[in-house]
Amino acid sequence: MTVKPIHIIGGGLAGSEAAWQIAEAGVPVVLHEMRPVRGTEAHKTEGLAELVCSNSFRSDDSLSNAVGQLHWEMRRLGSVIIAKGDAHQVPAGGALAVDRDGFSQAVTAALEGHPLITIDRAEIAGLPPVDWDNVIIATGPLTSPALAQGIQSLTGEDSLAFFDAIAPIVHFDSVDMDQAWFQSRYDKVGPGGTGADYINCPLDRDQYEAFIDALLAAEKTEFKEWEGTPYFDGCLPIEVMAERGRETLRWGPMKPVGLTNKHNPTVKAYAVVQLRQDNALGTLFNMTGFQTKLKYGEQAAIFRMIPGLQNAEFARLGGIHRNTYLNSPKLLDERLRLKADPRLRFAGQITGCEGYVESAAIGLLAGRMAAAERLGRDLALPPATTALGALVNHITGGHIVTIDEGPRSFQPMNINFGLFPHIEGQATHGPDGKKLKGPAKSVARKHALTARAKAEMEAWAGGVEVQAAE
Ligand SMILES: Cc1cc2nc3c(=O)[nH]c(=O)nc-3n(C[C@H](O)[C@H](O)[C@H](O)COP(=O)(O)OP(=O)(O)OC[C@H]3O[C@@H](n4cnc5c(N)ncnc54)[C@H](O)[C@@H]3O)c2cc1C
Repeated sequence: MTVKPIHIIGGGLAGSEAAWQIAEAGVPVVLHEMRPVRGTEAHKTEGLAELVCSNSFRSDDSLSNAVGQLHWEMRRLGSVIIAKGDAHQVPAGGALAVDRDGFSQAVTAALEGHPLITIDRAEIAGLPPVDWDNVIIATGPLTSPALAQGIQSLTGEDSLAFFDAIAPIVHFDSVDMDQAWFQSRYDKVGPGGTGADYINCPLDRDQYEAFIDALLAAEKTEFKEWEGTPYFDGCLPIEVMAERGRETLRWGPMKPVGLTNKHNPTVKAYAVVQLRQDNALGTLFNMTGFQTKLKYGEQAAIFRMIPGLQNAEFARLGGIHRNTYLNSPKLLDERLRLKADPRLRFAGQITGCEGYVESAAIGLLAGRMAAAERLGRDLALPPATTALGALVNHITGGHIVTIDEGPRSFQPMNINFGLFPHIEGQATHGPDGKKLKGPAKSVARKHALTARAKAEMEAWAGGVEVQAAE
């Protein structure tokens, strides 16, 4: 019996990985890639899986780094992206960095050489034809406008964001709650709130003035040519607000009204930075209204000037650039299919993950899901305790709904330990019998999280292999 092909649109990191996984499962694939017929603002070659910017897949440490753990899981699942990355590695300390041309050429050759993969160099300029019954859309942050419009016609005006306005996100356990406190402005409860939903960090006048000085003096990332789109109202970078006047932030995201510092109730803060819960687990908090295009190196130092954040660890830093991504928790089901048209499955950065590795990882999972569907098999979702499971959970619904009005809160994110469910029972004492504190405690927690992830990934992958062999 001939098996009908699965169509993939976009031969980037996610689409290439998805194609490989589907073909390896024995299902034919047609991969539609518009380059070189039509280019994007960032791609420069016609190679599949082109890296548009840095050549790094980030840390390869699978013991104490979340992206390293994701590498480990992808290797376990036969990822072509990680295999070719390993084969074309260049020295980069603990990171997996690659020779970008050698890497892209190797992925292209592997896909071109696979008997079940056909590569079609053409733009899909609108919704896919109706007779394509199993489609993966992996067209990335620079999806061509004609296809973006087609998707928008299915999802509604507001559902495809064209800007990535990102405020920094902080690990809750790095916030100093002896200085900060929980309270919503005017103790407002709001839908789903408790009246104490925000973390508040108080600044006195001197601290505020020093913070503004640092913002004004800091180096900013200049928009590239393709980023010349105007800012949305209500989404101005904080440094732009500071340039408009030293008091602007105090009347905007740093306004101190409706709040009482529980550590110092008689003294009114001159300004307050608020952080809002960012994930259902309560392990991550975003800095409300703090979208910024300060250079990464500057951000951490400047934000650590804020009382309560002096030791802050950032799950992601802020930034603003054009980015096409779906409001996935609303629009996709748990198998990454569009609720409005389930023959369309999404993968890669367009789903709201961020980064080469994460995009490829979601491509891997989407490919396996699409192949299982075609073969009439059930594919259990990877456990939320694995890096892959934690990432897909973030995309399809792990995220909380904001408690107050304003732009929706779902934002693209790299894999990080804040997305993993809490773990009990990690080592509390070192080999010397002394109680672990500070960084040593944090390392023990990371080791426990990655050990659990590996065991659970091993069990999941083993189960999938048994099923495929039956
Ligand atoms: C300018 C920029 C810099 C970035 N820098 C980094 C970085 O340094 N490190 C990092 O980890 N991440 C970076 N990212 C984020 C992200 O990881 C990458 O964009 C990543 O390539 C996303 O993978 P993807 O497969 O989802 O999309 P892509 O790799 O972009 O692949 C999408 C593919 O779809 C094709 N396509 C688009 N529309 C159509 C259509 N209608 N028909 C057919 N084909 C189509 C495109 O040509 C492209 O090949 C950057 C993103 C941008 C935009």
